[in-house]
Amino acid sequence: MELLNLSIRELNKLFITKKTKPSELYSEIFNRSASSEAALHAHLSLFEETNLDKAKKSDERFSKSENVGLLDGIPLAIKDNINIKDEKTTCSSKMLSNFVSPYNATVISKLDTEQTIYTGKTNLDEFAMGSSTENSAFGLTRNPWNTDYVPGGSSGGSAASVASRSSIAALGSDTGGSIRQPASFCGLVGFKPTYGSVSRYGLVAFASSLDQIGPISKSVDDARIVYSAISGHDSLDSTSINDEQIELPFEKNATIGIVKELMEDGISEESKKEVEKVIDILKQKGYNIKEVSLPLIKLSISIYYLIAPAECSANLARFDGVRYGLRVDGKTSYEMMEKTRAEGFGDEVKRRILLGTYALSAGYYDEYYGKALRARKKMVDEFSTIFKECDYLISPTTPTEAFKAGEKTNNPLEMYMSDLCTIPANLAGLPAISIPTGLSSNNLPLGVQIMSKPLTDNSLLDFSEMLEKELEFNSTPEGWSK
Ligand code: GLN
Repeated sequence: MELLNLSIRELNKLFITKKTKPSELYSEIFNRSASSEAALHAHLSLFEETNLDKAKKSDERFSKSENVGLLDGIPLAIKDNINIKDEKTTCSSKMLSNFVSPYNATVISKLDTEQTIYTGKTNLDEFAMGSSTENSAFGLTRNPWNTDYVPGGSSGGSAASVASRSSIAALGSDTGGSIRQPASFCGLVGFKPTYGSVSRYGLVAFASSLDQIGPISKSVDDARIVYSAISGHDSLDSTSINDEQIELPFEKNATIGIVKELMEDGISEESKKEVEKVIDILKQKGYNIKEVSLPLIKLSISIYYLIAPAECSANLARFDGVRYGLRVDGKTSYEMMEKTRAEGFGDEVKRRILLGTYALSAGYYDEYYGKALRARKKMVDEFSTIFKECDYLISPTTPTEAFKAGEKTNNPLEMYMSDLCTIPANLAGLPAISIPTGLSSNNLPLGVQIMSKPLTDNSLLDFSEMLEKELEFNSTPEGWSK
């Protein structure tokens, strides 16, 4: 059982030295999900049968020492808005409940080259819109640290899967925090890479200028291994960039900025304390620390809730009863579309389509969407100025620890506030990571977020790993340790 707590590198070593083999790990993983699914509902589908052959092929490669690398035979869970050929991609929506993908997302093709194995598809807020996984049309996911609480969202299924050791690591997508926030709520590492450094081809689009795929894992090193497998230029994604990494100073000569606006009202004392703990560690190690101010951060939720719904209203127009998934018949084609969309989408998705369509409509476009775009540009400029003085920016990942299931479902505005600290990195396209730092008085995980300049992902990972070692957080929730 110990196997499930090991890192990718440790497992790879055990495979190479023939102390265990991928199919053994795979069956342990499925023993675990057999016992955890009823309590957590992290997955929408499990691939026990379909991927066992792949695990056995990995066994053979290791037995002949022909393994292809660190991810060979490693079971990863995949958020159910990322396409795997011949498997269902539901986006946790009735609209796509029977949709089987005819192709692989680029990240999946890349993982296939590494001979990764998949455990299944994970639950999410419908079309990745939400912060708690309660917006799934197929039922909520629960937090492995305490099942009264949400695992965060929208990648809550991926986080619950890794935290309960039902997969070794997972892929999520992050439009406003959906990798980092659930990682923080579940005591894990969540990494949103620089916008454009991981292909979005085959990720069902929510808000295309913000969406980014990335890993959720037990450690920074696991995140690095998955990130290096899935990143790189892809001609199938027009926003994909060439991954020429810029190096940032890492040891003592780096300057660390503490974002003032993310240490003020609305942030719990416990979340602030975690940042202070990190500051103390960095001071002791001789880093230069200063408080920095990015005044526009205060507007980031308003900017995001114009841009993301506007893009979502355009992206989700394709679900019209003709091209994909659900179709509810009507007397005319118009009635068919109306009925299909009324039945297929849940409340939060409808709310965003309405908001976005309004913000983009003639007469309002400039006042709402146009203004949000201009404010976004100013925020990017603020970040550029700060990054002339600082290498890394630190803040809490979330204003509070995980909240209880049902606590915020009737108050969308309060739910939106839980992304206060994570949204700015999406608006500015920055790489940002959440690492777990400790437990709250309720015994729930807390984390800090570190952001850096675009294309400094590798330095950000190195810096975070240094902190991770100092923090010595044990990422295993009680009850899932064996
Ligand atoms: N919670 C945010 C939202 O509801 C972010 C979601 C995401 O990153 N996919 O839009």
